Amino acid sequence: MIAVADPPTKVPDKVHALPDHISPTAAKDYLGCSLRFFFGRVLAIPQATSPALHLGKCVHAALQHYHLAVWRGGDASPEAVTQAYEDIFMTMERDEGPVSWKDEKARNKAHADGLRVVAAYLDSPGVLKESPKAVEVFLREEIDGLSVPLTGAIDLVRQDLVPVDFKTSASKPDPATAAFDHELQLVCYQLMIEKATGKTPPALDLLFLVKTKTPQVIPVSIAPADEHRKQRAVKMLETAVQGIAEERFHPQPGMHCSWCSFRNECGKWKGDAA
Ligand code: SF4
Repeated sequence: MIAVADPPTKVPDKVHALPDHISPTAAKDYLGCSLRFFFGRVLAIPQATSPALHLGKCVHAALQHYHLAVWRGGDASPEAVTQAYEDIFMTMERDEGPVSWKDEKARNKAHADGLRVVAAYLDSPGVLKESPKAVEVFLREEIDGLSVPLTGAIDLVRQDLVPVDFKTSASKPDPATAAFDHELQLVCYQLMIEKATGKTPPALDLLFLVKTKTPQVIPVSIAPADEHRKQRAVKMLETAVQGIAEERFHPQPGMHCSWCSFRNECGKWKGDAA
C-alpha cells in the first residue's frame, strides 16, 4: 500500500489510559514485538528508512496517482504515472530519509525495480479500469468489542466495496501464507467498510507487485470473514489495546530480530522500558 503513515499512537499519559485508537498495523506491530513497538511508536526513536520501505512507498505513490486519475478523470497515462514515481522517489528520499542504501548501485537498481513493477501493474489484467469507490480512504470506526476506535487507510476500494491492498515483494508469495499473514489487516478493512456502509464486501484482496527480473503481478483474494474470524481479529486488536494501555512492553525474540533496528536498545533492556 502507499504507506500512508499511521497517525502516531498516542502515548497514554497516565497508567492504564487507553490509546486514542488502534490500527491493524499498530496492533500487528505490538503483537509482533511489544518492545520494538515501544521503541518505534512510543519513544519514536528515529530510524533510517530501509530501501524496501522506501521503494514500497514510492510504488504506492505512483499507483495512488494512477487510481486517483482514473477516479477523478486526471492524467492516467504511463508517462504521468512514471513522473509521479520519479517525483516521489526524490522528495521522500529528501524529506523522510536517510534511506540506508548500500551504495549508489543499489539505489539505482531499486529505482529501476520500482519503475518496472509499476509498469507491470499498468499492463496487468488486474489494473483498475473503472472508477473506484475510494482511493487511499482513511476510516475511523467504533467496533463492537473494541475499547477504542479502529482506524486504517485502505489503498483502494472497488465499486463493489472490495478493499485492495497493494504489496511490493522481492519474491513470489505463496497465496495461502500471504492470506494468513495479512488476515488481521484485511478483516479490519471489512469491519470498517461494514460499519461505514452497512454492507459486506464480497471479497478481500491483496495485489502483490513482485520485483523479480520479469516483474509479476499476483492477486490473492480471500473470502470475507465470518463471525468467528471477525471476533478473532477484534480480540487480537483488543489484546494490543490493553497491552499498550497497561504499558506491557518486553522483548519477544524471533526471526524478526534480524531486521530490527533497535537491537542495541533491546540489549540494554532491564525490565523497566515502560
Ligand atoms: S531485537 Fe527482537 S526482541 Fe528486541 S526489540 Fe527488536 S524485535 Fe523485539
